[in-house]
Amino acid sequence: MERPRILLIYTGGTIGMIKNRQTGTLQPIDFENLRQHVPELKELDYEIRAHQFQPPIDSSDMRPALWAQLVHIIAQRYDDFDGFVILHGTDTMAYTASALSFMLEGLRKPVILTGSQLPIGVLRTDGKENLIGAIELAAATDSQGRPMVPEVTVYFGSLLLRGNRSTKASAERFEAFASYNFPPLATVGININYNQSAILHSDPFRPLIPHVEMDNSVIAITLFPGIRPQIIEHVFEMPDIRGIILRTYGSGNAPQQPWLLNALRNATDDGKVVVNITQCDAGAVEMGLYETGNQLLRAGVVSGGDMTVECAVTKLMYLLAQGLPPDEVRRLMAQSLAGEVTEQ
Ligand code: ASP
Repeated sequence: MERPRILLIYTGGTIGMIKNRQTGTLQPIDFENLRQHVPELKELDYEIRAHQFQPPIDSSDMRPALWAQLVHIIAQRYDDFDGFVILHGTDTMAYTASALSFMLEGLRKPVILTGSQLPIGVLRTDGKENLIGAIELAAATDSQGRPMVPEVTVYFGSLLLRGNRSTKASAERFEAFASYNFPPLATVGININYNQSAILHSDPFRPLIPHVEMDNSVIAITLFPGIRPQIIEHVFEMPDIRGIILRTYGSGNAPQQPWLLNALRNATDDGKVVVNITQCDAGAVEMGLYETGNQLLRAGVVSGGDMTVECAVTKLMYLLAQGLPPDEVRRLMAQSLAGEVTEQ
């Protein structure tokens, strides 16, 4: 039996940070230091190689060009490794996981993002368990030698979540990530319990199709009582905007004001894609349920179903970059490409 080969990609984030004694702030350390802090890595009988972002970043600085860099690294070394573990700050981890789930089309190997709430050099760190667990999950195979979870996932606080269903739910707890609309793909305790029926397996005869283009001419707008019509109208009319994620109330409701419906209609007529997702953590948009939702439908708004905001934003960036006509982007927004939405 060959030893599992895992590529660790260190992008930055708390997991690899150390305290600057003068300023008291956290600063990134070199990846080799991270390895020194986790001597257990040497005990795993795996071939672990590392790639480090130069410089490592706080994940607040994550952006599409760096997602493309991750896609390049994985695509170039796809055949050399059995699994990939990306160490990433928690703040935008769910965005990166969502983006990669679309950018790595036809993925058949595990790509697991993890990080930590406390730096790895700190006594009570959650980083060690997250890192070691993620590596084990990335190396896990079934009796036929096939990867257990060949998807882009987030592993955090003993839960393995589908990346494009995950969201950062706590800035405090070690169980920092949640997936409100889809069950965990695996739960790690004394044993690893896989939720087999929830795990996606891509067609084995399709190759990996890496995508590096993302069109960031999108905006996410959260509705709130009293939102000013002029601001909405101004943003919707901006020529640089091609896609709008509208975070509405409850099951997809918005004020029944003519100014809003007109602004939406004009945006749609202009070729902009408007997607309705809910501000609620759990549940889905159902635009046929109330008259308010129906009016949005008539204004050309498409339902984002039960997608997270991280997923809706990155999926829209991905689809807009494909050079598709707006109607095709609208159709695909409602369709599951990588298990990100429950089709209605
Ligand atoms: N600000 C950090 C980051 O996202 C927090 C973390 O690593 O969890 O990069």
